[in-house]
Amino acid sequence: MNRRKFFKNGSLFALGASVLNPLNAGATPKDFDTYKKSKKAKNIIILVSDGMSTGTLNMADLYLSRKMGTGSNWLQLYRDNKATRGLMDMASLNSIVTDSAAASSSWGGGFRINNGGLNTSPTGEKHLPIWQKFKKAGKMAGCVTTVPITHATPAGFCVNSKTRKDQAGIAEKYLGLNFDIMMGGGNEYFSPDKREDKVDMYQKFANKGYEVVKTREQMLAANTKKPILGVFSDGGLPYTIDRNNDKELAKNVPTLAEMTQKAIDRMKNHPEGFVLQVEAGKVDWAAHGNDIAGLIYDQTAHDEAVKVAIDFADSNDDTLVIITTDHGNSNPGTISGSNANKNFDSIQNYKHSNEWILNGISRESTIQQIKERIEYANNFEVTDKEAIALLKSYAIIKTEDGLYNPRNLPFKLMAEIQKQHNSVSWISQHHSSDYVEIAMYGPGSDLLKPFIKNTDLHYLMLEAAEVENKF
Ligand SMILES: [Zn+2]
Repeated sequence: MNRRKFFKNGSLFALGASVLNPLNAGATPKDFDTYKKSKKAKNIIILVSDGMSTGTLNMADLYLSRKMGTGSNWLQLYRDNKATRGLMDMASLNSIVTDSAAASSSWGGGFRINNGGLNTSPTGEKHLPIWQKFKKAGKMAGCVTTVPITHATPAGFCVNSKTRKDQAGIAEKYLGLNFDIMMGGGNEYFSPDKREDKVDMYQKFANKGYEVVKTREQMLAANTKKPILGVFSDGGLPYTIDRNNDKELAKNVPTLAEMTQKAIDRMKNHPEGFVLQVEAGKVDWAAHGNDIAGLIYDQTAHDEAVKVAIDFADSNDDTLVIITTDHGNSNPGTISGSNANKNFDSIQNYKHSNEWILNGISRESTIQQIKERIEYANNFEVTDKEAIALLKSYAIIKTEDGLYNPRNLPFKLMAEIQKQHNSVSWISQHHSSDYVEIAMYGPGSDLLKPFIKNTDLHYLMLEAAEVENKF
């Protein structure tokens, strides 16, 4: 089926410029790049840095430029003029500020829904998730993430659920849908020791022919002839910076780039092609915690996965790579001051996330212990007054349960203290309504216009792959 016929068949994304723009009709022959852009995408790899504000993208590039001499792989696509790019309006049905479930559902189901749901309208109508559409079209499909594999962003491409919170139920839904690779965290939703119903989901996946892997070594050695379920931690995977500075974690937990490579290796020889979602989920969690080391190092881990995808697309020119985020979060930025350069560069010497710092402090800690822990992790000294203020916040009994901060650790105060030393500031600890950056590389990238709605991406992916929206 050619693209022209596809338009007739009712794509909602029917304004392909090369077809409808009379200025292009019969014009000069397309050069090779244009040809590559407009051919059919057999494979799609979509990489989502969850909760990535523009400042996060910028700071990761600045961080890499100043440390390594070259910026991020994502922005290198722009520097080399290799990608198309646009802004995307991510509003959900009930709010200009989306959550990850409604955001992923807008791409996954092609409809805006209320925050908190997965491909389910307020009246209960179910929208078939896009990875199921691609499976029906004969492709392989999978997801890899640094948060539970049952979390909102992968789930929004894969299942219908009234609520994102039913992660144990989402694990069961995955089992019935025969996805080809699913890897991330989330042991608590698969292990019989952790699940309320005591069901051994690992055994169930193994019974269906999955290779089940739980460590980095097992993952790297996994047989790519079989579908793979990989679960490497109870909840989310550790932050990249904490993993990199802990031998045990580095040995047991794969990087996002390694998972991406494995997923590609598993699916690349499939005659009908494949679709893969890659999520840097903890960029969002770090933003909720105003945790700069968690944020920048996980964004660079996402960027390493971008390189894996681009390298594959460079040698397989029937592969469309989409790089984006689902919403802003806490909108960090580097702020001006006489020491801005030096302060920002000091992040290069950080050894651990704020989560690591604060989880190691308790009511029983001494002022000296707090000061030593922060100096070890961040390479600067806090004052006695600041250490006392941190300690005091452990004494306050908190009643509210936070989704991303169940222990109510003093993340905000820690970021305020750090700001004097690293010049990074945050507007809040929550999602923001920002239009988000989206970039495309490879066949179908010509379909991206400078400003799109989140739901447009659903139809764009189907159109790029020339999969009819008939299911
Ligand atoms: Zn999100």
